[in-house]
Amino acid sequence: MAPMMDDVAKVLLDEATIQAKVRELAARIAEDYAGKELTLVCILKGAVLFAADLLRALPLPVEIDFMAISSYGRGVRTSGVVRILKDLDHSIEGKHVLVVEDIVDSGLTLSYLLETLSSRQPASMKVCVLLDKPERRVVDLTPDYVGFEIPDEFVIGYGLDYAEKYRNLPFIGVLKPEIYAATGE
Ligand code: 5GP
Repeated sequence: MAPMMDDVAKVLLDEATIQAKVRELAARIAEDYAGKELTLVCILKGAVLFAADLLRALPLPVEIDFMAISSYGRGVRTSGVVRILKDLDHSIEGKHVLVVEDIVDSGLTLSYLLETLSSRQPASMKVCVLLDKPERRVVDLTPDYVGFEIPDEFVIGYGLDYAEKYRNLPFIGVLKPEIYAATGE
């Protein structure tokens, strides 16, 4: 972990804070879906740690499926163009779906996804995001469950990457500016 830590300017949310929030969200979700069967749709790759922790904290009958999407390019800002790289394995028709995403920024990625998924006629569909940057929103989208509202800073760790690195950090942090400068993105 040490070489990666050298790249981190500050820790925004530490491991204990994140884990406590996951338990809190799981308790709310369990209450809201009591008596129902839930399907978590984990958006790869960023939400994989969050979805795994949430899944294990949910005392409900729950299935998980995965979808991989990509906005073109791997820079800091999303382009708004979304491509499905891997679709769900199973139909969500008639299911109670909870989309689990790492972060909502402009909201373009999620609104595209929700539109696609709702056309498949789930019984219900809600969204759970770990992080929300509400000031950056360009579309009208309010997630049903939000872990933390954060300021407009590019964050890494706990599933979130910069150029595919740092996903394995157990906390959410901000990189030193020279890291971006070094890769030119
Ligand atoms: P949106 O379409 O809402 O602008 O962007 C959502 C996607 O952009 C997220 O799923 C994530 O992949 C990426 N993204 C937005 N903000 C950040 C950030 O601060 N850090 C990282 N690592 N990815 C981000």
